[in-house]
Amino acid sequence: MRGKTHNAASLFAAAIVFSFLNIDHKLMLLIGLFLGGYFPDIDIDTAKISKIFKDTSKVIRTFFGHREAFHSLLFPVAVYAAILIALPEALPFARGFLLGVVIHLFLDSFNKKGVPWLWPSKILRVRGPFKSDGVADTFLTTVFTFGAILVFAMSFF
Ligand SMILES: [Zn+2]
Repeated sequence: MRGKTHNAASLFAAAIVFSFLNIDHKLMLLIGLFLGGYFPDIDIDTAKISKIFKDTSKVIRTFFGHREAFHSLLFPVAVYAAILIALPEALPFARGFLLGVVIHLFLDSFNKKGVPWLWPSKILRVRGPFKSDGVADTFLTTVFTFGAILVFAMSFF
């Protein structure tokens, strides 16, 4: 899926978190959520996050390729565990980051290239029928954006 679709999905999830969940440190969670929604695409050169972190992205692409290690649960779970151990006060960020990555991987699982959820194992590579930047992207971006607006609006009534 393209960046706009992931961004719209993060916005929709943020609307739900912001409107309906009564939890502390929502802002830290939302920052993690949006970062997690973008992060996996650091393994493709055309993504916005890759343009910001050019050298890091290049190293990741060279060693891991696109839709491999950085499109799996390995990295976000490692980040979550590291924060849990070393910086527990940032746990809301880690929860948001993990949620953002999982939503990203879920959406990319509908693409033809698929997602290796349990990389380096190949037992759970989930693929779908849609190509990136196609009709499914446009449809989902529209649904998530209007869904976010609707959820925000509902929270005021
Ligand atoms: Zn992706």
